[in-house]
Amino acid sequence: MEGFEGLERRIVSCEKCPRLVAYRKRVAEVKVRRFRDWDYWGKPVPGFGDPKAELLIIGLAPAAHGANRTGRMFTGDSSGEWLFRALYETGFSNMPRGVSRDDGLKLTNAYVTAVVRCAPPKNLPTKDEIRNCLPYLKAELSLLKRLKLVVTLGRIAFDTYTRLLGLRLKFGHNRLYEFGDSPSLLASYHPSRQNTQTGRLKWDEWIAVFRRARELLG
Ligand code: SF4
Repeated sequence: MEGFEGLERRIVSCEKCPRLVAYRKRVAEVKVRRFRDWDYWGKPVPGFGDPKAELLIIGLAPAAHGANRTGRMFTGDSSGEWLFRALYETGFSNMPRGVSRDDGLKLTNAYVTAVVRCAPPKNLPTKDEIRNCLPYLKAELSLLKRLKLVVTLGRIAFDTYTRLLGLRLKFGHNRLYEFGDSPSLLASYHPSRQNTQTGRLKWDEWIAVFRRARELLG
């Protein structure tokens, strides 16, 4: 059976979505001024973390100049700053900040992934692109044998994951959904710059999700 390494190889070489392939490559060539010295990743970004994780965090997609630049989910953008700080404060990460693939950041009992693995224009993947990328999320779910809790970030991750379960549920921030012996679901707003800078998502509301995850996992 395929392991995490085989899955990662498949993801990194994927070209199923022509629009996203063109966009992620173009962004990696053109860059932005503040990162002009970076050698952008410019490929699909695999999930990362502890293969024995009980907690899975599902985001939306790599940011054009964040994970599409660094090659690691949530690394190098403002959403990642919120995520890694929260994971550090609740004992899931050894560092409060991630800047590159080789910065020494390690997750313990947590794995981070996204609904789509190529940066989409305006952070908005199409339905077809989400559908194309879903097999990778399914593969991660089956590889994470000890999974007990899924945290979804934002509506698209929530809707995608609940549809995968064959359910239609009402979204609520920090709301817990339990499914008997299957992993529970904890929903959260996405820590996007738009949400955090407008105050739609405040730090206290955000960290409460991860404190709850910590309590649930013991
Ligand atoms: S978004 Fe997913 S399915 Fe589409 S090209 Fe990227 S890795 Fe492949």
